[in-house]
Amino acid sequence: MKNKQDQAGSTGENAKQAAPQIGLPPVITVKQLADQMGVSGIEIIKQLMRNGIMANINQSLDYEAAAKLVTDFGFTAKRLHIPVHGKTSIAAKGAKLHSRPPVITIMGHVDHGKTSLLDAIRQTNVAGGEAGAITQHIGAYQIEMKGRKITFLDTPGHEAFTAMRARGARATDIAVLVVAADDGVMPQTIEALDHARAAGVSIVVALNKIDKPDANPDRIKQQLADLGVLIEEWGGDIICVPVSAKKKLGIDDLLENLLLVADMLELKAEWDCPAEGVVIEAKLDKNRGPLATVLIQKGVLKPSDNIVIGTVAGKIKAMFNYAGKNIRKAEPATPAEILGMNSVPEAGEIFQVVAGEKEAKALVEKNRDSGIGASSARGISLTAVAAQASAGEIKDLNIILKTDVHGSIEPIKDSLERLSSDKTRVKVIHTGSGSITESDILLAMASKAVIVGFNSKPEPGASKLAEQESISIRQYSVIYKLIEDVEKALKGLLEPEFADIVVGQAEVKTVFEAGKKGQIAGSQIKEGKATRDSQVRVIRGGKVIAESRVSGLRRFKDDVKEVTTGMECGVKLDSFNDFETGDILQFVRREQID
Ligand code: GDP
Ligand code: MG
Repeated sequence: MKNKQDQAGSTGENAKQAAPQIGLPPVITVKQLADQMGVSGIEIIKQLMRNGIMANINQSLDYEAAAKLVTDFGFTAKRLHIPVHGKTSIAAKGAKLHSRPPVITIMGHVDHGKTSLLDAIRQTNVAGGEAGAITQHIGAYQIEMKGRKITFLDTPGHEAFTAMRARGARATDIAVLVVAADDGVMPQTIEALDHARAAGVSIVVALNKIDKPDANPDRIKQQLADLGVLIEEWGGDIICVPVSAKKKLGIDDLLENLLLVADMLELKAEWDCPAEGVVIEAKLDKNRGPLATVLIQKGVLKPSDNIVIGTVAGKIKAMFNYAGKNIRKAEPATPAEILGMNSVPEAGEIFQVVAGEKEAKALVEKNRDSGIGASSARGISLTAVAAQASAGEIKDLNIILKTDVHGSIEPIKDSLERLSSDKTRVKVIHTGSGSITESDILLAMASKAVIVGFNSKPEPGASKLAEQESISIRQYSVIYKLIEDVEKALKGLLEPEFADIVVGQAEVKTVFEAGKKGQIAGSQIKEGKATRDSQVRVIRGGKVIAESRVSGLRRFKDDVKEVTTGMECGVKLDSFNDFETGDILQFVRREQID
C-alpha cells in the first residue's frame, strides 16, 4: 500500500493530468473500488476500519466514504452521476448462488501447535457453547464468529490435505500455516507451504507460541520473506497473526482475519440442487456400520437422501453434526457425519445425492466401469511428457525435486526452471533434501508432477504408494543426465528405457527329462515369485550361464501364471535344457522406466 501511495503522490506532483483519477458513482462496492484502484480488497477494508467503517467486500459505500478512501490511497475522486447497476458477482447461468462459510485447514511443522490451535479455536468459539458436549472427533467442526460461521477441517497437516486433493477433492479455501515463533520455519513448514501453493489455496500465517520467552517473531517474518511469503507488514499481502494456542491469545484476531480473506474470496455455493460434497473421514463402526464425515459443497443434505460415493451407495439413516447432535439438514460448507452406507468410502471421494435407489445402482455401475472410486488424479511420467511434447500438447511441467543434500537443490532447480520456453513452463513445485516420501507421491498425484530424485531414493511406503498409483519416480546420480532427460522430454525426444526387475528366485531341486520336450526343472521358490511371462537367468556357481524365456510353469499337473515363495513348481525354458540340481533360476521382468 505504501508504494502505491508514494507512486500516486509523486506522479500527482509532477504532472497534473497524470494524477490518477477515480470515477465514483453515487454508490460503489468495496470490490468495485478495489478493482478500479488496483489495490487489494483487504487493504481497502483495513483502511475503512481506520476511517471507522466496518465493511465487507460486497458492501456498498456512499460517495463520501468512497471519496475519502480514494484520497487515502493517493488518488483523486471524480463524482459520476450514473448509478452502477447490479451486483459485482454474477450467478452462474440460472443457478442461485449464496455465500457460504469458508473451509479452513491448519498446516505446519510437527509440534508447532496445529492440534493446540484447533482445540483453542473449538473451545473459545464453538457455536452455542457446544464445545463441552463434543465427545468424539469427526474430522471437522464449525464455529461462529460475529454471527458468521467458519468450518475447520480437524485433520491437520498437509498430508491429509494433499491426500484428499490427490483423490480429486478440493475441500479447503484457506490454509492456516502455523509457525512456532520460538522455532521458526522448519522443513515441514516449507513442505506445507509448497503443498498449499500447489493447490492454489489462500494462505494465512499464524505465528504461534508468542507467549514463550524465546519467541522471536521478527526472525520468523524474515524466514517467511526468504520463502517468498511476504506478510502485510513487509509490504506483501499475506496476513500474519501472532497467537498463542496455549494461552488462547490472538484467536479472535485470527478468526476475524480468516473472515476477511473469506470475503475476498467471495465464497459461494449453489443451494437449490441435489447435494454434493467430499468425504473427510470414514470408518467402520462396530455397532453402527460404515460411518463417514462429509463436507457439503453444494445443495442441502437431508436424512433419507440416497447417496453414491464412488462405488459405495446408501440411504442416509441418520445425520449428526460435529457435536454428535442429530441434524435434519446440512448446508454448504457444513460437516456432517452420516450413517447408512453399504460400505466404507475413502477420504477425498466425492458424494452425490441421487433421486432414488435405481439411480444409485446405475451410478455405482457407471463409477465402477470408469474406475471412479479409485483415485482420480495421477501423476505424469517423463516419457508421457515426451509424448505430449511431440504432439505439442504440453504447457506446464511440474517437478518435485528431492536431493541428498540441501546444497544441490538450488543449482538443479535453477537449471530445470531455465528449461522453460515460450511453449512450456517448467515449475519446480517442491524441493527438499532427504528421501522421497509418501507426501511427495501424494503431491505428485494431486499436482500432476514428475518426481525427480538426485541421489535420493523413495522410502518403502512411498515406493509402495507410487507403484499402486502408477506414479513414476526418476532417480539420478549425475546432474547433467537429470537435466538432459528433462530437456529431452520437453523436446519430445526422450525414449523409454527399460530395466530388468528381478521378481523372484528359485532353486532347482530335481531335474526331470521330458523326452523330446527337453527338461523340466523341479524347483522351489526361495524369494518373490516365479511368473509365466518372465525371462529366466540360470545362475550356476555365482555366474549367469544362460538366459531364456519361460515356456512352461506348472504346479503339480496344472499350468499356472505364477508361483509364490516357499512353493514348488516345474519350470520349462524355451532354449535351455542343461539344468543341474542347485542351479538358481532368477525370474526377471523387463519394465519400462518412465
Ligand atoms: P502439532 O504437532 O502441530 O499438532 O502441535 P501440538 O498442538 O501437539 O503442540 C505441540 C506442543 O507445543 C505441545 O506440547 C503444546 O502444548 C505446545 N504448544 C502449542 N501451542 C503453544 C503455545 O501457544 N504456547 C506454548 N508455550 N506452547 C504451545
Ligand atoms: Mg498434532
